[in-house]
Amino acid sequence: MNELQTKSIHAGSIRPRFGGAVVTPVFQSSTYEYHGEDYHDVKYMRLSNSPNHEVLGRRIAELEGTEAALVTGSGMAAISSVLMSSLSPGDHILVQDCLYGGTTGLLDHELKRNGITYTPIDVQTPSSWNTSLQNNTRAIYVETLTNPLVQMADLEAVVAFARDHSLESVIDNTFASPVNCRPATLGFDIVVESCTKYMNGHNDVIAGCVAGTAQRVSDCRVTLNHVGGSLDAHACYLLERGIKTLVLRVNHQNSSALQIATEMARHPAVKVVHYPGLPSHAQHERAKKLLAGFGGMISFELHGGLEAAEEFLAAVKLPAVAASLGGAETLMVRPAAAVHGALSPEERERSGVTDGLIRFSVGLEGTDDLLADIRHALTTLSISEA
Ligand SMILES: *Cc1c(COP(=O)(O)O)cnc(C)c1O
Repeated sequence: MNELQTKSIHAGSIRPRFGGAVVTPVFQSSTYEYHGEDYHDVKYMRLSNSPNHEVLGRRIAELEGTEAALVTGSGMAAISSVLMSSLSPGDHILVQDCLYGGTTGLLDHELKRNGITYTPIDVQTPSSWNTSLQNNTRAIYVETLTNPLVQMADLEAVVAFARDHSLESVIDNTFASPVNCRPATLGFDIVVESCTKYMNGHNDVIAGCVAGTAQRVSDCRVTLNHVGGSLDAHACYLLERGIKTLVLRVNHQNSSALQIATEMARHPAVKVVHYPGLPSHAQHERAKKLLAGFGGMISFELHGGLEAAEEFLAAVKLPAVAASLGGAETLMVRPAAAVHGALSPEERERSGVTDGLIRFSVGLEGTDDLLADIRHALTTLSISEA
């Protein structure tokens, strides 16, 4: 971990230091002197090749353990550049059955309209994946930890299956961040992150990244150049600043979330706590093996269901009720109302996202203060036991 901490501050920095500045300056220049380059190499901010973009690309590659990386204007820009740069009409992919909502939207609308189809697979049963394979299947796409139930796929089986069937393996590592999981070291071909979350970590920037081989990252950059998904220079600066404390932040969130989840799971008003660090979690053994830390994301249900969830969210003082995750401020949200609101009640029930489920992104506040706030909110519930 020490090594990652040093890399998060120094890897890929401009040397010699520009004007002696200790921190990478904001290169607030849309265009640069032309020296006869081809289109994709002309220095121009949309082409993601300013010094700010290049420092971040080198730094993130070091953090993810890949040959190259690219920052993008959002997590969705990263995901769309990966899928759009490799798939053509008639192609098919396998995807984890419970995906981030924006990714499902991309598959159901933009990719479908372009003749690219997908089949959801149950990531817990590798033996079932063969039946979903088609002769036009090109890739397999999963997430390190699922949203909002923090389930963990059999990542080693995904990599082995991809190799056996010549599929590109793609993973969205947003919930883990490279501090808790470096999927490229497990053999994944492409890693994407929504840097909006843990990578930046301050609830103040929208950004994403793609990490993989130099060739694949270059292909993604070409697609990103065409669709116009580059990250603004000032956001690059904020992301670079955020990444410097990534390891410290995520380590704090790991230990805070484990302590909070453990206490909540014992509370009589709490029906269930989903957290990979708890022995009761269905993939706890796998999480212990594949993750360096269990992360800052918890989800839970109270005995009083939806009504109790609403009372609880009205009673807590530190957490803001808001979507998103991974920042300094603790956030809570009912996914059934916000993130998964587009699904029918039956689809939500099937995916385990009940109306009363609360997703909890543990921030950087003092663990004791968060615990005191939660304990107090639980005492205010009108239905507090089964
Ligand atoms: C937020 C999120 C995204 C999308 O990222 P944006 O930066 O909002 O575009 C993708 N995947 C996961 C798992 C996320 O949590």
